[in-house]
Formats: sequence, C-alpha cells, structure tokens
Amino acid sequence: MFSTQTLEEVIRNSGVLSGRPPTADGWHNVKCAVCNDYKIRGGFKFEPEGVGYHCFNCGTTAVHKNTSRKFSDAMMKVITSFGIDLDAARGTLFSAFASESSEPPPKIDKRLLPAPTIELPPTMFPLNPEKHERYVNYIESRGLSVDSWRWYVSVPGDREWANRLIVPIYNHRDQLVFFQGRTIIKDKKRWHTPQLRKTSVIFQHKKLYTHGESVIVCEGVFDALSVDGVAILGSSFSDYHLAELNKFRGKKIIVPNKDENGYQMALEALEAGFSLAFPDIGSCGDLNEAVVQYGKLYVEDQIYQTVAEGELARFKLSIWTNNS
Ligand SMILES: [Zn+2]
Repeated sequence: MFSTQTLEEVIRNSGVLSGRPPTADGWHNVKCAVCNDYKIRGGFKFEPEGVGYHCFNCGTTAVHKNTSRKFSDAMMKVITSFGIDLDAARGTLFSAFASESSEPPPKIDKRLLPAPTIELPPTMFPLNPEKHERYVNYIESRGLSVDSWRWYVSVPGDREWANRLIVPIYNHRDQLVFFQGRTIIKDKKRWHTPQLRKTSVIFQHKKLYTHGESVIVCEGVFDALSVDGVAILGSSFSDYHLAELNKFRGKKIIVPNKDENGYQMALEALEAGFSLAFPDIGSCGDLNEAVVQYGKLYVEDQIYQTVAEGELARFKLSIWTNNS
C-alpha cells in the first residue's frame, strides 16, 4: 500500500514541531537536532510544493519537493536527526513515483533507525510503594530509591513477568521503546526482555540531548542509575549507539566491568574515541555494587579523577583487567 501522506504530514505527526504558530514568513522554529543546538535556531517551512529546513547555527539547509523520488542527503540527515518516522517518510516517496516507474526505493541505513515506540503489556502497572513492599526492598537493596525511576510491576498471574521489577526504557523524546524485567527472586534468570530489537535503545537516552561536560556510559540500567549515566543494555556498541553517543558533545566515559565483556566494551569504546575511567572500587565487579558498598559520592569522585584517553587508557586497561 502506498501512503497518501505528504512529508509535511509525516513531520507534523512526528511531534518535532513546538505547537506554536509559525512566524509571519511561515517558519516553524525548532531547536536543531542536526547540530543538537540548545537554542531555537532551526526551522521547517511547508509549501504546497514541498518542505524546507534551515538551521542558522550549523547551516544545514535541506529542501524536498513532493515530486522527488528520493531525499537529498541533507534532508535525510534532517529526518534521521529529528527522529522523524523514516518508514512513513519513505512512504511519501513511494506515492510520488509509484505511478511513473518501478525503480527501487532509495537505500536507507537500517542500523541507524530509531527503535519504534511501543506500549507496555496491559498486565503491567506502575509500582505502588504502599502495596509492593517486596519490590521496594529490592530497589533499596540495590542502593537506589523508589523515586529513581518509573518502575512497573506485573499482575501476579502473569507467568512471564510476575516477580519481576519492570524497567521501562524511553527514547530522548520520552516515548517508550523497550522494557526489561529484573527478577526479585534469587533462583531465576536475572533479566527477562521482550522480543524486540534493543540495538537502537539507550537507557536514559535523554541525557545525550543535554549539555554536560561528560556522561558515564554503562552496560546495564542499575549501573546507570547508580551514577546518573546512560546504559546500552549490553557490552557492545551498535552503530546506532555510537551515532547517538556522538551527539553528546562532552566526554563519554566508560568504566570497564572487570570481566571479559567489560574488556571488550572498553576496547570498542577506545576505538570510538571515548574515555575510560579506573576508579578504585576494591573487589566490586560493577558500579552498582561499588555505590552500594562505598556510596555514590566516593564512586563518582573516583571516576572523574581516574579518566584516561588513548594510549594511556589502553595501558591502564591492560593492568586493570590483569589484576582482577
Ligand atoms: Zn543546526
């Protein structure tokens, strides 16, 4: 089926516009997602013949005519940077040339597509601290407060998700894109995840769209919550992870877990030009454990004091992993 939508409609439906009326010249002003600007210096303009975009900060200029068969590189950059629904945007292209030829649609780099938004299963509902004491105890045993995240739990009859603390994961627009369930019972598989692609999911994704000097990049959500960092839900960076992390201008700091996966993740991080840190956390295997043991203040201070880059980081990594 070919879409009858226009690119203008796709952009309007994707929620990137502010909702304020356009300027007298017809510009819908926005913060530019291409350069991740902190000021409103970009704008979309909609004409009967197509769509224009311009940013006064990075100079990105993109034009798309409704009759075009493909997006220009600049418009493609605008679409992906703003997280505009690429499938829907491509649908508008199909309708433009479907009547004329059977030429294949332009190739899109699937690896850089954002995760689609989802809804939690109806069996899940927000954790209520008054009622769900077992879950509260679990969260506190991990050194975290109940208010540190929007936790969910499942109804007891749900065989797949009962007795699991549900961790919803949102994209940088606060839309749900993934969730995980951490068992609070000892003798079970620790994490359970739905059958969804997680290579384009980042826990605390929003932090990458803020302006800070540094961000700590972790494997898992408990580590990330312990040090106010982000997590890639594993120990390997996807192309999407790297692209999103690089939108953050400050330092990306990885504290290698003292195991083989942690070592591999650190090597990938070095390859990407990120920083490593080697806090003195005794025999603790990860940051969450360290924060439970020594407190957040100490661990964060240790991280920032031991940041290293390049060859020095590589050298310290070899010592760090040999000593564990
Ligand atoms: Zn810009």
